Amino acid sequence: MTLPLVNLHEDFDAEVEGRQLHNFVARLYPFCRSITGDGLRDSLAALKQFVPVALHEVPSGTQVLDWVVPPEWNIRDAWIADAAGKRIVDFRQHNLHVVNYSMPVRTRLTLAELKPHLHSVPEHPDWIPYRTSYFRECWGFCLSHRQRQSLADGEYEVCIDSTLEPGHLTFAEFRIEGESKDEFLFSAHSCHPSLANDNLSGMAVAARLAQLLHGRQLRHTYRFLWAPGTIGAITWLARNRNALSNIRGGLVLSCLGDLGAFHYKRSRRENARVDSVVEHILTGSGPGHSVEVFEPMGYDERQFCSPGFDLPVGRLSRTPNGRYAEYHTSADNLEFVRPASLGGSLDLLLRIVETWEANRTLRNLAPHGEPQLGKRGLYRSTGGLASDTDEAALLWVLNLADGTRSLLDIAKRSHLSFAAVSAATARLERAGLLAETNSIQR
Ligand code: ZN
Repeated sequence: MTLPLVNLHEDFDAEVEGRQLHNFVARLYPFCRSITGDGLRDSLAALKQFVPVALHEVPSGTQVLDWVVPPEWNIRDAWIADAAGKRIVDFRQHNLHVVNYSMPVRTRLTLAELKPHLHSVPEHPDWIPYRTSYFRECWGFCLSHRQRQSLADGEYEVCIDSTLEPGHLTFAEFRIEGESKDEFLFSAHSCHPSLANDNLSGMAVAARLAQLLHGRQLRHTYRFLWAPGTIGAITWLARNRNALSNIRGGLVLSCLGDLGAFHYKRSRRENARVDSVVEHILTGSGPGHSVEVFEPMGYDERQFCSPGFDLPVGRLSRTPNGRYAEYHTSADNLEFVRPASLGGSLDLLLRIVETWEANRTLRNLAPHGEPQLGKRGLYRSTGGLASDTDEAALLWVLNLADGTRSLLDIAKRSHLSFAAVSAATARLERAGLLAETNSIQR
């Protein structure tokens, strides 16, 4: 039976979507997220604005693959005060001011003693850097290089009112059941504090995508994961080992709100179905985009594509991590992230899902010699075919639909459009010459 192609673009307005996504990014921007703690928990709970995500809490000390879930970190306040008692660096002004996961401290010390605990970016003297101290006990502050240079000799008082105690690591999940148990995984890291492009853009776009797919009749199952980077993905993998064999494709979503062109990083397999689908969509979306090979750096594709799992998961970004000056600084803010870019990223993801849904694998039921098309009404009665392209599409599909190649594989091999191959497939199915094979290969 021919299923209607899922059209996710009815009434889609990229401009309106972009504005709403930006509003959500702005709402979550002040939260002090980390790999554990209330800032993360509250951010994940806020996703319920879009879909009823399930929040999972994994206790500190839990062994997850080669790692252990760390103590939960929470912070109420942090500051550096000068000799007069005036707060000169204040966590309440910007949560990047404190090194994320800093242990608690309250002490007086000289500038010379304070300096090893200070971090700044000399190349961008007005920006506050983002630094973390996961999995080691230390503390520190981040400030603009201009301010760091202006600190006078003398005594300072520092306070970090944080706790590192047994608690939980939180991650959020949402699953949309399709006709097939074959799953597509979308994953967005959610552990960065006030950074807009690097984490909030991916979190927001994933949440709205989930909302747009929720309630639709879909061929495939879609699973959405929002988790802290590295340890969250590792925790999820450790707890879902039995479900991993259903994952037929996936995308890590990050840095989707800046002005840059799309960058697709292939899965470790390099030729997974998700790789060809995304590359196909990007090729159709005009120049400027780039497709890059897999490397074991970056975001949680490092975990999903570790050799023991080797999941067919690629990564979609605009400007990738580390390739824009604002990366991991206070300049990755609400102005850096553009509504139009967020809306455009969501639009691209809808196209990817549409193609993922439409990209079926079929088998020619009359593969011995060419089936006689005329008696099935696939030729015009005047003797010719509707067009050379139509003829070519019918013959290509009949020849390559052998149960191993997807429609997109056939389009690529034949240099025909996906639409032409899909249309020919529909005609051949109606004539009883093709049958769908059940599960996705690769
Ligand atoms: Zn980052």
